[in-house]
Amino acid sequence: MRTALRIINEAMAAHRKACLAFSGGSDSVLLMDLIFRHTEHRPVVVFADSQMEYPETEAFCRTVCGHYGAEIHIARASHTPEEQWRRYGWPMMGKIAARKWMQRHTHRPLGFKIDVSTCCRMMKIAPARRLAKKLGCTLQFTGVRGASDDILRGFRAIKDGATHYVKADGLTVCNPLTGWTDTMGRRYRDKYDLPVHPSKARGAVTIGCVCCGGGSQFTISAFRLLRRTWPEAWWKYIVETRMGEIILAIKYDTHIDTVRESIDSLGGLETVARERPWIFDHTAADPLPGYEK
Ligand code: SF4
Repeated sequence: MRTALRIINEAMAAHRKACLAFSGGSDSVLLMDLIFRHTEHRPVVVFADSQMEYPETEAFCRTVCGHYGAEIHIARASHTPEEQWRRYGWPMMGKIAARKWMQRHTHRPLGFKIDVSTCCRMMKIAPARRLAKKLGCTLQFTGVRGASDDILRGFRAIKDGATHYVKADGLTVCNPLTGWTDTMGRRYRDKYDLPVHPSKARGAVTIGCVCCGGGSQFTISAFRLLRRTWPEAWWKYIVETRMGEIILAIKYDTHIDTVRESIDSLGGLETVARERPWIFDHTAADPLPGYEK
């Protein structure tokens, strides 16, 4: 904890106004508590509403901010997730795997693109940073933990350190929890009895976009989870947004038109989703165990 507080104080010494990127997830609640309980700094809070959040999220964020007396601001992209996916690529398989998949399919396109990085950037990161700058902030705290989150973040933490300037956004980003393990986080949360996002009661494992295919090739794919935690949202994404077609095209490495023909021969997407919902759980026919970090 001492290292995290040193990182926060050093960053604040160089900036007049800061914000805290807050998602309502356990790491951002922890970071808010760390700053508001153990320092005199009072950053404003920016919640990036990806438009794919559990219905309880915004109210929970407001309640937590109210508890600490933090000023909360909501950032949203000006376009919908569906517009994002159809134009730039669907959020499937994680950043590195999606890039490799696109490289493999350059000369054999399946009728759609996948791109997790651009989705995250345009639906969450950029709107939050734009709002932060509009509020006069030059520093943004985030609850990113580096290698404990995933391999890519681990590499970035090594390359950039806990605090670094992001030229594209004109903002310094500080990740005081860099290096925190799951156990460290759990101990801190238990010690201070931090509030837990109410969607955990539905069985939600992570907070944020409910229908992200970032881990869709693994057994704990969000699609499978969403079927249980929020069936109405599952139906909206898989059937109404027709994400189900994309999942099957990746799963069977088949052109989207062929998938549509097959689905039509089985009675249409609604029928298939009602009768065999599990076929949309993963983008891999044989899902990998767990979620490789
Ligand atoms: S978490 Fe997934 S769905 Fe949400 S913004 Fe990032 S890539 Fe898109």
